[in-house]
Amino acid sequence: MINETPRVRFAPSPTGYLHVGGLRTALYNYLFAKKNNGTFVLRIEDTDRNRYVEGAVENLIKALMWAGLNFDEGPETGGNYGPYMQSQRLDIYKKYADELIEKGKAYYCFCTPERLKTLKEEQEKQKLPQAKYDKHCLHLSKKEIENNLNAGIPKVVRLNVEGNNTIKFDDIVREHVEFESNNVDDQVLIKSDNYPTYHLANVVDDHLMKITHVIRGEEWLSSTPKHVLLYDAFGWERPIFAHLPLLLNPDRSKLSKRQGDVAVEDYRDKGFLKDALVNFVALLGWNAGDDKEFYYMDELISRFTLERVNKAGAVFDLQKLNWLNAEHLRKKSIEELLNLLKDEIQKSEFKNQNYSDNYLKLIIEAMKERVSFIKEFIDTCTYFYVTPAEYEQKSIEKNWKPETPEHLNKLKQEFALLNNPTKEDFEHALAKVSEEINVGKGKLIHPLRLAVSGQSTGPGMFDLLFILGKDEVVKRIETAIKNISV
Ligand code: GLU
Repeated sequence: MINETPRVRFAPSPTGYLHVGGLRTALYNYLFAKKNNGTFVLRIEDTDRNRYVEGAVENLIKALMWAGLNFDEGPETGGNYGPYMQSQRLDIYKKYADELIEKGKAYYCFCTPERLKTLKEEQEKQKLPQAKYDKHCLHLSKKEIENNLNAGIPKVVRLNVEGNNTIKFDDIVREHVEFESNNVDDQVLIKSDNYPTYHLANVVDDHLMKITHVIRGEEWLSSTPKHVLLYDAFGWERPIFAHLPLLLNPDRSKLSKRQGDVAVEDYRDKGFLKDALVNFVALLGWNAGDDKEFYYMDELISRFTLERVNKAGAVFDLQKLNWLNAEHLRKKSIEELLNLLKDEIQKSEFKNQNYSDNYLKLIIEAMKERVSFIKEFIDTCTYFYVTPAEYEQKSIEKNWKPETPEHLNKLKQEFALLNNPTKEDFEHALAKVSEEINVGKGKLIHPLRLAVSGQSTGPGMFDLLFILGKDEVVKRIETAIKNISV
Protein backbone atom coordinates (compact mmCIF):
# COMPACT_ATOMS: atom_id res chain seq x y z
CA MET A 1 0.00 0.00 0.00
CA ILE A 2 1.24 3.45 -0.88
CA ASN A 3 1.30 5.77 2.10
CA GLU A 4 2.91 9.00 0.96
CA THR A 5 0.75 12.03 0.10
CA PRO A 6 -1.00 11.23 -3.13
CA ARG A 7 0.15 12.38 -6.51
CA VAL A 8 -2.44 11.98 -9.22
CA ARG A 9 -2.58 13.00 -12.84
CA PHE A 10 -4.95 13.84 -15.63
CA ALA A 11 -3.32 12.54 -18.79
CA PRO A 12 -5.36 13.53 -21.82
CA SER A 13 -4.41 13.09 -25.43
CA PRO A 14 -4.96 16.48 -27.01
CA THR A 15 -7.88 16.02 -29.39
CA GLY A 16 -8.79 19.68 -29.74
CA TYR A 17 -11.43 19.90 -27.03
CA LEU A 18 -12.10 18.67 -23.50
CA HIS A 19 -14.64 15.83 -23.48
CA VAL A 20 -17.11 15.86 -20.58
CA GLY A 21 -15.79 12.41 -19.68
CA GLY A 22 -12.32 13.98 -19.52
CA LEU A 23 -13.70 16.71 -17.27
CA ARG A 24 -15.13 14.03 -14.97
CA THR A 25 -11.75 12.23 -14.84
CA ALA A 26 -9.89 15.49 -14.24
CA LEU A 27 -12.40 16.52 -11.56
CA TYR A 28 -12.18 13.26 -9.61
CA ASN A 29 -8.39 13.46 -9.70
CA TYR A 30 -8.54 17.06 -8.57
CA LEU A 31 -11.02 16.36 -5.76
CA PHE A 32 -8.99 13.41 -4.56
CA ALA A 33 -5.77 15.45 -4.56
CA LYS A 34 -7.30 18.44 -2.78
CA LYS A 35 -9.05 16.32 -0.18
CA ASN A 36 -5.83 14.50 0.68
CA ASN A 37 -3.39 17.43 0.42
CA GLY A 38 -1.94 15.76 -2.62
CA THR A 39 -0.62 16.98 -5.95
CA PHE A 40 -2.59 17.19 -9.18
CA VAL A 41 -0.48 16.81 -12.31
CA LEU A 42 -1.47 17.54 -15.90
CA ARG A 43 0.43 15.40 -18.40
CA ILE A 44 -0.18 15.68 -22.10
CA GLU A 45 -0.10 12.32 -23.90
CA ASP A 46 0.72 13.49 -27.39
CA THR A 47 2.65 10.56 -28.80
CA ASP A 48 0.19 9.82 -31.57
CA ARG A 49 1.56 12.10 -34.23
CA ASN A 50 -1.30 11.38 -36.64
CA ARG A 51 -3.70 12.94 -34.19
CA TYR A 52 -1.86 16.22 -33.74
CA VAL A 53 -4.28 19.17 -33.55
CA GLU A 54 -3.04 22.75 -33.60
CA GLY A 55 -3.88 24.68 -30.40
CA ALA A 56 -5.31 21.59 -28.69
CA VAL A 57 -3.20 21.85 -25.54
CA GLU A 58 -4.00 25.53 -25.07
CA ASN A 59 -7.72 24.78 -25.46
CA LEU A 60 -7.55 21.98 -22.99
CA ILE A 61 -5.78 24.06 -20.36
CA LYS A 62 -8.25 26.88 -20.92
CA ALA A 63 -11.21 24.55 -20.40
CA LEU A 64 -9.68 23.10 -17.21
CA MET A 65 -8.99 26.59 -15.87
CA TRP A 66 -12.55 27.68 -16.69
CA ALA A 67 -13.87 24.75 -14.64
CA GLY A 68 -11.56 25.74 -11.77
CA LEU A 69 -9.35 22.65 -11.98
CA ASN A 70 -5.98 24.22 -11.38
CA PHE A 71 -3.11 21.80 -11.62
CA ASP A 72 0.01 21.92 -9.47
CA GLU A 73 2.40 20.60 -12.10
CA GLY A 74 2.11 20.51 -15.85
CA PRO A 75 3.09 22.15 -19.11
CA GLU A 76 3.55 25.92 -18.66
CA THR A 77 3.31 25.54 -14.86
CA GLY A 78 6.36 23.26 -14.67
CA GLY A 79 7.33 21.07 -11.71
CA ASN A 80 10.06 18.70 -10.58
CA TYR A 81 9.13 15.84 -12.87
CA GLY A 82 8.87 17.50 -16.28
CA PRO A 83 8.71 17.84 -19.13
CA TYR A 84 4.97 17.18 -18.94
CA MET A 85 4.46 16.71 -22.67
CA GLN A 86 5.24 13.17 -23.75
CA SER A 87 6.54 14.31 -27.14
CA GLN A 88 9.39 15.98 -25.22
CA ARG A 89 10.35 12.77 -23.42
CA LEU A 90 11.24 10.44 -26.30
CA ASP A 91 14.78 9.72 -25.06
CA ILE A 92 13.38 8.60 -21.74
CA TYR A 93 11.08 6.04 -23.35
CA LYS A 94 13.86 4.71 -25.55
CA LYS A 95 16.08 4.18 -22.53
CA TYR A 96 13.40 2.18 -20.73
CA ALA A 97 12.50 0.17 -23.83
CA ASP A 98 16.19 -0.76 -24.16
CA GLU A 99 16.18 -1.85 -20.53
CA LEU A 100 13.25 -4.18 -21.18
CA ILE A 101 14.92 -5.62 -24.29
CA GLU A 102 18.04 -6.32 -22.25
CA LYS A 103 15.98 -8.11 -19.63
CA GLY A 104 14.21 -10.23 -22.27
CA LYS A 105 10.88 -8.61 -21.38
CA ALA A 106 10.61 -6.90 -24.76
CA TYR A 107 11.97 -7.59 -28.23
CA TYR A 108 12.47 -6.04 -31.66
CA CYS A 109 9.97 -6.98 -34.29
CA PHE A 110 10.77 -6.45 -37.97
CA CYS A 111 7.61 -7.95 -39.42
CA THR A 112 6.25 -6.10 -42.42
CA PRO A 113 2.72 -4.70 -42.39
CA GLU A 114 1.92 -7.29 -45.11
CA ARG A 115 2.98 -10.18 -42.90
CA LEU A 116 0.96 -8.83 -39.98
CA LYS A 117 -2.06 -8.45 -42.22
CA THR A 118 -1.81 -12.03 -43.50
CA LEU A 119 -1.38 -13.28 -39.96
CA LYS A 120 -4.47 -11.44 -38.84
CA GLU A 121 -6.51 -12.79 -41.74
CA GLU A 122 -5.41 -16.34 -40.99
CA GLN A 123 -6.32 -15.96 -37.35
CA GLU A 124 -9.69 -14.57 -38.28
CA LYS A 125 -10.29 -17.56 -40.53
CA GLN A 126 -9.50 -19.85 -37.61
CA LYS A 127 -12.03 -17.88 -35.58
CA LEU A 128 -9.56 -17.19 -32.79
CA PRO A 129 -11.14 -14.95 -30.15
CA GLN A 130 -8.72 -12.16 -30.91
CA ALA A 131 -5.89 -11.61 -33.37
CA LYS A 132 -2.49 -11.75 -31.69
CA TYR A 133 1.06 -11.39 -32.82
CA ASP A 134 2.67 -14.85 -33.14
CA LYS A 135 6.02 -13.93 -31.51
CA HIS A 136 7.81 -14.67 -34.78
CA CYS A 137 10.55 -12.11 -34.10
CA LEU A 138 11.08 -13.25 -30.52
CA HIS A 139 12.93 -16.19 -31.98
CA LEU A 140 15.39 -14.25 -34.15
CA SER A 141 19.02 -14.87 -33.32
CA LYS A 142 21.23 -12.10 -31.93
CA LYS A 143 23.02 -12.02 -35.27
CA GLU A 144 19.79 -11.64 -37.26
CA ILE A 145 18.64 -8.82 -35.03
CA GLU A 146 21.96 -7.03 -35.39
CA ASN A 147 21.93 -7.39 -39.17
CA ASN A 148 18.38 -6.10 -39.40
CA LEU A 149 19.18 -3.14 -37.19
CA ASN A 150 22.32 -2.33 -39.17
CA ALA A 151 20.40 -2.59 -42.43
CA GLY A 152 17.90 -0.06 -41.08
CA ILE A 153 14.89 -2.37 -41.56
CA PRO A 154 11.80 -0.74 -40.04
CA LYS A 155 11.11 -2.14 -36.59
CA VAL A 156 8.96 -1.86 -33.54
CA VAL A 157 9.60 -2.97 -29.96
CA ARG A 158 7.09 -5.42 -28.51
CA LEU A 159 6.29 -6.49 -24.98
CA ASN A 160 7.04 -10.17 -24.41
CA VAL A 161 3.84 -11.40 -22.74
CA GLU A 162 4.24 -14.84 -21.23
CA GLY A 163 1.27 -17.11 -21.80
CA ASN A 164 -0.71 -19.26 -19.37
CA ASN A 165 -0.64 -16.76 -16.62
CA THR A 166 -3.37 -14.91 -14.74
CA ILE A 167 -2.70 -11.20 -14.43
CA LYS A 168 -4.27 -9.91 -11.22
CA PHE A 169 -4.67 -6.44 -9.85
CA ASP A 170 -6.84 -4.51 -7.44
CA ASP A 171 -8.92 -1.53 -8.33
CA ILE A 172 -10.72 0.72 -5.87
CA VAL A 173 -13.85 0.76 -8.03
CA ARG A 174 -13.75 -2.60 -9.81
CA GLU A 175 -12.27 -4.41 -6.78
CA HIS A 176 -10.32 -7.52 -7.75
CA VAL A 177 -9.66 -7.81 -11.48
CA GLU A 178 -8.14 -10.72 -13.42
CA PHE A 179 -7.13 -11.12 -17.05
CA GLU A 180 -5.68 -14.22 -18.70
CA SER A 181 -2.29 -13.45 -20.21
CA ASN A 182 -3.16 -15.70 -23.15
CA ASN A 183 -5.59 -12.99 -24.19
CA VAL A 184 -2.99 -10.23 -24.03
CA ASP A 185 -1.18 -9.38 -27.23
CA ASP A 186 2.56 -8.70 -27.44
CA GLN A 187 1.80 -5.04 -27.38
CA VAL A 188 3.92 -2.62 -29.39
CA LEU A 189 5.87 -0.38 -26.99
CA ILE A 190 7.89 1.68 -29.46
CA LYS A 191 6.46 2.31 -32.92
CA SER A 192 8.44 2.38 -36.17
CA ASP A 193 8.54 6.19 -35.99
CA ASN A 194 10.42 5.80 -32.67
CA TYR A 195 7.52 7.23 -30.73
CA PRO A 196 6.32 5.18 -27.78
CA THR A 197 2.80 3.81 -27.63
CA TYR A 198 0.40 4.95 -24.95
CA HIS A 199 1.14 1.88 -22.81
CA LEU A 200 4.89 2.34 -22.44
CA ALA A 201 4.83 6.11 -22.13
CA ASN A 202 1.99 6.02 -19.64
CA VAL A 203 3.64 3.51 -17.32
CA VAL A 204 7.11 5.06 -17.52
CA ASP A 205 5.73 8.51 -16.79
CA ASP A 206 3.44 7.41 -13.99
CA HIS A 207 6.48 5.80 -12.38
CA LEU A 208 8.91 8.68 -12.95
CA MET A 209 6.33 11.28 -11.94
CA LYS A 210 5.72 9.30 -8.75
CA ILE A 211 2.01 8.92 -9.41
CA THR A 212 0.42 7.06 -6.51
CA HIS A 213 -3.15 6.67 -7.83
CA VAL A 214 -4.19 6.16 -11.42
CA ILE A 215 -7.77 7.43 -11.67
CA ARG A 216 -9.16 7.15 -15.20
CA GLY A 217 -12.12 6.04 -17.30
CA GLU A 218 -13.23 2.45 -17.52
CA GLU A 219 -12.28 2.32 -21.19
CA TRP A 220 -8.68 1.95 -20.01
CA LEU A 221 -9.38 -1.06 -17.80
CA SER A 222 -8.48 -3.49 -20.60
CA SER A 223 -5.11 -1.75 -20.98
CA THR A 224 -4.30 -2.18 -17.32
CA PRO A 225 -3.06 -5.82 -17.56
CA LYS A 226 -0.44 -4.62 -20.04
CA HIS A 227 0.52 -1.86 -17.67
CA VAL A 228 0.70 -4.25 -14.75
CA LEU A 229 3.04 -6.49 -16.78
CA LEU A 230 5.21 -3.46 -17.50
CA TYR A 231 5.42 -2.44 -13.84
CA ASP A 232 6.37 -5.98 -12.94
CA ALA A 233 8.88 -6.23 -15.79
CA PHE A 234 10.62 -3.08 -14.60
CA GLY A 235 10.40 -4.22 -11.00
CA TRP A 236 8.43 -1.07 -10.09
CA GLU A 237 5.72 -0.73 -7.50
CA ARG A 238 2.28 -0.51 -9.11
CA PRO A 239 0.13 2.53 -8.44
CA ILE A 240 -3.35 2.11 -6.98
CA PHE A 241 -5.92 1.92 -9.77
CA ALA A 242 -9.44 3.36 -9.84
CA HIS A 243 -11.41 2.99 -13.07
CA LEU A 244 -14.38 5.33 -13.31
CA PRO A 245 -17.68 4.08 -14.73
CA LEU A 246 -18.66 4.68 -18.33
CA LEU A 247 -20.79 7.68 -19.22
CA LEU A 248 -24.02 6.67 -20.96
CA ASN A 249 -26.71 8.32 -23.06
CA PRO A 250 -30.21 8.09 -21.58
CA ASP A 251 -30.80 5.00 -23.76
CA ARG A 252 -27.76 3.48 -21.99
CA SER A 253 -25.57 3.47 -25.09
CA LYS A 254 -22.07 4.87 -24.67
CA LEU A 255 -22.12 8.67 -24.52
CA SER A 256 -21.58 9.88 -28.05
CA LYS A 257 -21.43 13.07 -30.03
CA ARG A 258 -24.36 11.89 -32.08
CA GLN A 259 -26.77 12.25 -29.17
CA GLY A 260 -25.63 15.65 -27.95
CA ASP A 261 -22.72 17.83 -27.02
CA VAL A 262 -19.70 16.16 -25.50
CA ALA A 263 -17.26 19.07 -25.40
CA VAL A 264 -16.99 21.11 -22.22
CA GLU A 265 -16.50 24.14 -24.45
CA ASP A 266 -19.97 23.59 -25.97
CA TYR A 267 -21.61 23.66 -22.56
CA ARG A 268 -19.61 26.73 -21.59
CA ASP A 269 -20.61 28.51 -24.81
CA LYS A 270 -24.25 27.56 -24.34
CA GLY A 271 -24.17 29.48 -21.08
CA PHE A 272 -23.97 26.73 -18.47
CA LEU A 273 -22.41 27.99 -15.27
CA LYS A 274 -19.13 26.31 -14.42
CA ASP A 275 -20.41 25.58 -10.90
CA ALA A 276 -23.39 23.75 -12.36
CA LEU A 277 -21.35 21.75 -14.86
CA VAL A 278 -18.81 20.76 -12.21
CA ASN A 279 -21.62 19.82 -9.80
CA PHE A 280 -23.34 17.75 -12.51
CA VAL A 281 -20.18 15.98 -13.63
CA ALA A 282 -19.22 15.18 -10.02
CA LEU A 283 -22.44 13.18 -9.70
CA LEU A 284 -21.73 11.09 -12.80
CA GLY A 285 -20.59 8.01 -10.92
CA TRP A 286 -20.27 9.35 -7.38
CA ASN A 287 -22.52 10.31 -4.49
CA ALA A 288 -21.77 10.98 -0.85
CA GLY A 289 -24.10 8.24 0.34
CA ASP A 290 -27.13 10.46 0.75
CA ASP A 291 -29.44 12.14 -1.74
CA LYS A 292 -27.76 15.53 -1.72
CA GLU A 293 -27.36 16.82 -5.25
CA PHE A 294 -26.45 20.48 -4.92
CA TYR A 295 -22.75 21.04 -4.35
CA TYR A 296 -20.14 23.73 -4.58
CA MET A 297 -16.55 22.75 -5.28
CA ASP A 298 -15.37 23.11 -1.67
CA GLU A 299 -18.07 20.74 -0.41
CA LEU A 300 -17.21 18.27 -3.16
CA ILE A 301 -13.60 18.37 -2.01
CA SER A 302 -14.48 17.70 1.59
CA ARG A 303 -16.91 14.88 0.84
CA PHE A 304 -15.27 13.10 -2.09
CA THR A 305 -13.88 9.59 -1.69
CA LEU A 306 -12.91 7.07 -4.34
CA GLU A 307 -14.60 4.37 -2.28
CA ARG A 308 -17.96 5.92 -3.11
CA VAL A 309 -17.46 5.81 -6.88
CA ASN A 310 -19.96 3.39 -8.46
CA LYS A 311 -19.26 0.57 -10.85
CA ALA A 312 -22.46 1.03 -12.83
CA GLY A 313 -22.44 3.29 -15.88
CA ALA A 314 -23.59 6.85 -15.22
CA VAL A 315 -26.37 8.31 -17.35
CA PHE A 316 -25.77 11.78 -18.72
CA ASP A 317 -29.10 13.43 -18.03
CA LEU A 318 -29.30 16.82 -19.63
CA GLN A 319 -32.47 17.69 -17.73
CA LYS A 320 -30.61 17.35 -14.49
CA LEU A 321 -27.87 19.62 -15.77
CA ASN A 322 -30.48 22.22 -16.71
CA TRP A 323 -32.02 21.92 -13.28
CA LEU A 324 -28.67 22.28 -11.54
CA ASN A 325 -27.90 25.30 -13.68
CA ALA A 326 -31.09 27.01 -12.55
CA GLU A 327 -30.38 26.09 -8.92
CA HIS A 328 -26.85 27.47 -9.04
CA LEU A 329 -28.04 30.57 -10.80
CA ARG A 330 -30.66 31.26 -8.14
CA LYS A 331 -28.13 30.89 -5.35
CA LYS A 332 -25.86 33.54 -6.81
CA SER A 333 -25.79 36.99 -5.27
CA ILE A 334 -27.15 39.95 -7.21
CA GLU A 335 -23.60 41.27 -7.60
CA GLU A 336 -22.37 37.99 -9.11
CA LEU A 337 -25.36 37.86 -11.44
CA LEU A 338 -24.79 41.47 -12.41
CA ASN A 339 -21.24 40.69 -13.52
CA LEU A 340 -22.37 37.65 -15.46
CA LEU A 341 -25.19 39.61 -17.09
CA LYS A 342 -22.82 42.40 -18.10
CA ASP A 343 -20.54 39.84 -19.77
CA GLU A 344 -23.56 38.40 -21.54
CA ILE A 345 -24.69 41.82 -22.74
CA GLN A 346 -21.24 42.27 -24.25
CA LYS A 347 -21.89 39.17 -26.37
CA SER A 348 -25.35 40.38 -27.41
CA GLU A 349 -26.84 42.84 -29.88
CA PHE A 350 -27.14 45.31 -26.99
CA LYS A 351 -23.41 45.56 -26.39
CA ASN A 352 -23.23 49.21 -27.42
CA GLN A 353 -26.09 50.33 -25.22
CA ASN A 354 -25.59 51.78 -21.78
CA TYR A 355 -27.59 50.31 -18.94
CA SER A 356 -26.90 51.38 -15.38
CA ASP A 357 -26.00 48.76 -12.79
CA ASN A 358 -29.11 49.69 -10.87
CA TYR A 359 -31.33 49.14 -13.87
CA LEU A 360 -29.75 45.73 -14.56
CA LYS A 361 -30.13 44.73 -10.92
CA LEU A 362 -33.85 45.47 -11.09
CA ILE A 363 -34.14 43.25 -14.15
CA ILE A 364 -32.24 40.51 -12.33
CA GLU A 365 -34.52 40.67 -9.31
CA ALA A 366 -37.65 40.62 -11.43
CA MET A 367 -36.50 37.71 -13.59
CA LYS A 368 -34.36 35.59 -11.24
CA GLU A 369 -37.06 33.03 -10.49
CA ARG A 370 -38.09 32.81 -14.13
CA VAL A 371 -34.80 31.95 -15.83
CA SER A 372 -32.35 29.04 -15.86
CA PHE A 373 -29.56 30.65 -17.87
CA ILE A 374 -27.85 34.01 -17.70
CA LYS A 375 -28.64 34.69 -21.32
CA GLU A 376 -32.35 34.35 -20.53
CA PHE A 377 -32.02 37.58 -18.53
CA ILE A 378 -31.80 39.05 -22.03
CA ASP A 379 -33.52 36.67 -24.45
CA THR A 380 -36.76 36.18 -22.54
CA CYS A 381 -37.20 39.88 -21.79
CA THR A 382 -35.61 41.93 -24.55
CA TYR A 383 -38.26 44.59 -23.81
CA PHE A 384 -36.09 45.71 -20.90
CA TYR A 385 -33.34 46.54 -23.35
CA VAL A 386 -35.22 47.94 -26.33
CA THR A 387 -38.72 49.17 -27.22
CA PRO A 388 -40.65 46.22 -28.62
CA ALA A 389 -40.71 46.23 -32.39
CA GLU A 390 -43.37 43.54 -32.55
CA TYR A 391 -46.39 42.60 -30.51
CA GLU A 392 -47.52 39.05 -29.83
CA GLN A 393 -50.28 38.35 -32.36
CA LYS A 394 -52.21 35.94 -30.18
CA SER A 395 -52.39 38.46 -27.38
CA ILE A 396 -53.52 41.19 -29.77
CA GLU A 397 -56.36 38.96 -30.93
CA LYS A 398 -57.36 38.19 -27.40
CA ASN A 399 -56.79 41.46 -25.57
CA TRP A 400 -56.80 44.33 -28.03
CA LYS A 401 -60.40 45.52 -28.37
CA PRO A 402 -61.71 48.54 -30.32
CA GLU A 403 -61.97 50.46 -27.04
CA THR A 404 -58.44 49.53 -25.90
CA PRO A 405 -56.65 52.61 -27.35
CA GLU A 406 -59.01 54.85 -25.44
CA HIS A 407 -58.44 52.94 -22.18
CA LEU A 408 -54.72 53.00 -22.61
CA ASN A 409 -54.83 56.72 -23.33
CA LYS A 410 -56.52 57.23 -19.99
CA LEU A 411 -53.88 55.17 -18.26
CA LYS A 412 -51.14 57.07 -20.04
CA GLN A 413 -52.56 60.39 -18.87
CA GLU A 414 -52.84 59.18 -15.30
CA PHE A 415 -49.29 57.79 -15.33
CA ALA A 416 -47.96 61.03 -16.80
CA LEU A 417 -49.15 62.88 -13.70
CA LEU A 418 -47.07 60.70 -11.39
CA ASN A 419 -43.88 62.00 -9.92
CA ASN A 420 -41.05 59.47 -9.77
CA PRO A 421 -43.58 56.68 -9.23
CA THR A 422 -43.02 53.58 -7.15
CA LYS A 423 -44.52 50.23 -8.02
CA GLU A 424 -47.44 51.04 -5.69
CA ASP A 425 -48.01 54.43 -7.33
CA PHE A 426 -48.50 52.69 -10.68
CA GLU A 427 -50.84 50.23 -9.02
CA HIS A 428 -52.97 52.97 -7.49
CA ALA A 429 -53.08 54.93 -10.71
CA LEU A 430 -54.34 51.88 -12.59
CA ALA A 431 -56.96 51.17 -9.90
CA LYS A 432 -58.13 54.75 -10.15
CA VAL A 433 -58.58 54.62 -13.91
CA SER A 434 -60.30 51.26 -13.64
CA GLU A 435 -62.83 52.74 -11.30
CA GLU A 436 -63.33 55.94 -13.28
CA ILE A 437 -64.05 54.24 -16.56
CA ASN A 438 -65.67 51.25 -14.91
CA VAL A 439 -63.48 48.68 -16.61
CA GLY A 440 -62.07 45.71 -14.65
CA LYS A 441 -58.34 45.89 -13.82
CA GLY A 442 -57.65 42.69 -15.75
CA LYS A 443 -59.10 44.24 -18.90
CA LEU A 444 -56.55 47.04 -18.54
CA ILE A 445 -53.56 45.02 -17.46
CA HIS A 446 -53.42 42.62 -20.43
CA PRO A 447 -53.33 45.26 -23.17
CA LEU A 448 -51.04 47.41 -21.01
CA ARG A 449 -48.54 44.55 -20.72
CA LEU A 450 -48.76 43.98 -24.44
CA ALA A 451 -48.21 47.67 -25.12
CA VAL A 452 -45.11 48.06 -22.93
CA SER A 453 -43.48 44.64 -23.48
CA GLY A 454 -44.92 43.22 -26.69
CA GLN A 455 -45.60 39.99 -24.79
CA SER A 456 -48.34 38.40 -22.75
CA THR A 457 -46.16 36.99 -19.96
CA GLY A 458 -43.33 38.27 -17.82
CA PRO A 459 -42.67 39.58 -14.34
CA GLY A 460 -45.38 41.25 -12.27
CA MET A 461 -47.10 44.08 -14.16
CA PHE A 462 -46.19 46.79 -11.67
CA ASP A 463 -42.61 45.58 -11.35
CA LEU A 464 -42.39 45.85 -15.09
CA LEU A 465 -43.76 49.42 -15.11
CA PHE A 466 -41.52 50.47 -12.24
CA ILE A 467 -38.38 49.07 -13.87
CA LEU A 468 -39.13 50.71 -17.23
CA GLY A 469 -39.93 54.00 -15.52
CA LYS A 470 -42.70 56.51 -16.15
CA ASP A 471 -41.29 58.22 -19.26
CA GLU A 472 -40.57 54.95 -21.04
CA VAL A 473 -43.99 53.53 -20.12
CA VAL A 474 -45.77 56.62 -21.44
CA LYS A 475 -43.73 56.52 -24.65
CA ARG A 476 -44.38 52.85 -25.19
CA ILE A 477 -48.13 53.21 -24.71
CA GLU A 478 -48.17 55.90 -27.38
CA THR A 479 -46.11 53.77 -29.75
CA ALA A 480 -48.31 50.73 -29.23
CA ILE A 481 -51.50 52.68 -29.88
CA LYS A 482 -49.97 53.88 -33.14
CA ASN A 483 -48.60 50.48 -34.18
CA ILE A 484 -51.23 47.99 -33.15
CA SER A 485 -54.20 47.84 -35.46
CA VAL A 486 -56.89 45.20 -35.41
N1 GLU B 1 -4.04 9.43 -22.79
C1 GLU B 1 -5.11 8.67 -22.21
C2 GLU B 1 -6.39 9.43 -22.50
O1 GLU B 1 -6.45 10.06 -23.50
C3 GLU B 1 -4.85 8.54 -20.73
C4 GLU B 1 -5.48 7.37 -20.07
C5 GLU B 1 -4.91 7.23 -18.69
O2 GLU B 1 -5.28 8.07 -17.84
O3 GLU B 1 -4.08 6.39 -18.47
O4 GLU B 1 -7.35 9.43 -21.79
